[in-house]
Amino acid sequence: MKISARTNIYGVIGYPIEHSLSPMIHNAAIEALGIDAVYVAFHVKPGMLKDAVYGMKAIGVKGFNVTMPFKTEIVSYLDQLDEETAFVEAVNTVVDVDGCLVGYTTDGLGALEVLKSTVGNLAGLNIVVIGAGGAARALVYHLSKIPCDITILNRSVEKARFIVEKLRSNSNAKLSYRSLSEDDQKAVIPKAHIIVNATPVGMTTPGCPISPSLVNSSHIVFDMIYWPPETQLLKEARLRGATIVNGLPMLVYQAAYSFKLWFGIFPPLDVMFRVVEEEFSRYGER
Ligand code: NAP
Repeated sequence: MKISARTNIYGVIGYPIEHSLSPMIHNAAIEALGIDAVYVAFHVKPGMLKDAVYGMKAIGVKGFNVTMPFKTEIVSYLDQLDEETAFVEAVNTVVDVDGCLVGYTTDGLGALEVLKSTVGNLAGLNIVVIGAGGAARALVYHLSKIPCDITILNRSVEKARFIVEKLRSNSNAKLSYRSLSEDDQKAVIPKAHIIVNATPVGMTTPGCPISPSLVNSSHIVFDMIYWPPETQLLKEARLRGATIVNGLPMLVYQAAYSFKLWFGIFPPLDVMFRVVEEEFSRYGER
C-alpha cells in the first residue's frame, strides 16, 4: 500500500478499538482493488465523540465505521440518516457526501445475507429473533419485507413491541413479539425454523439467551456473536444436531456493504473472508 498526499482516509471509531478486525478487512479489499485509500482505527474516549465526528468532517475523512459504544449516540452529530437507519436509531457506517455526514447501518443487510446464504429462500419460514437492540431492529427491518413469520423475544418486552408496531403497517411478514420468559420461549421456539441471537449473551454475559433444551436438530441457529466463535448457545445447538452459524460471516458482509457505500463497488468477499479466517485461526493457536 503506497500512501501519498492524495490518499483518502477511512476508518472506524470506537472505545476500545484495538481489537477491531475492520482495518484488516477493509485494507485487504482496498489493496486487492488498487484503490488509493487507507483504513485506520480511531480510539475515541467517551465524552469526545462530538469532537471526533466534527474533526473527521474538518479533515476530510471520506467515511468511517462506528462501533461500540457510539452506534446510537452518533446519530445526534450526523447531518442525515437513510430511512432504515432512522428506524434502527443505530449507525455503523458514515459517508461524507460533499461535507454532509450521512449515517447508515449495514448490520441488517449483513445478517440477512447470512440467513439467505444458509437457508436460501426465507419466504414462509418461521424466524425467532432474540433481542430488540440495533442489530435485531436492523435485521427485522429487512426480514419484514419478506412473507415470513417473525417473532421478537426480548427481555424488555416494550422494546420488542416498539419494533413490531413501527413496522407492522408496511410489512409483508407476520410480526409478533413476546418476552424472554420460559413460557414465551416454549410457545415459540419449537415452531421456529430459524433462531437468531441478537443479544450479547454468550459474549459479554455468560450463558444462553434461551433455554437450550428447546433447540432441536431441525433448527438453524444463527448467533451474531463472532467471539467466542462458538458461544454456549451454538455449542448446545450443535450438540442437539442443529445447523449453527456464528457472527463471522455477518462481520464480513456488513463490512462489504459499508465498503460499497464508500467506494461504489462490492469488494471481493473471498479476500475479506480470508483475512478474517486467518486472524481467527491465529487466535485459536494462542
Ligand atoms: P444493543 O443495541 O445493545 O442490544 C442488545 C440487546 O440484547 C437488547 O435487546 C437487550 O435487551 C439484550 N440483552 C442484553 N443483555 C441481555 C441479557 N443479559 N439477557 C437478555 N437480553 C439481553 O446491541 P446490538 O448492537 O443490537 O448487538 C447485539 C449483538 O449482536 C451483540 O452481541 C453484538 O456483538 C452483535 N453484533 C454482531 C455483529 C457482527 O458483525 N457479527 C454486528 C452487530 C452486532 P434489553 O432491551 O432488555 O436491554
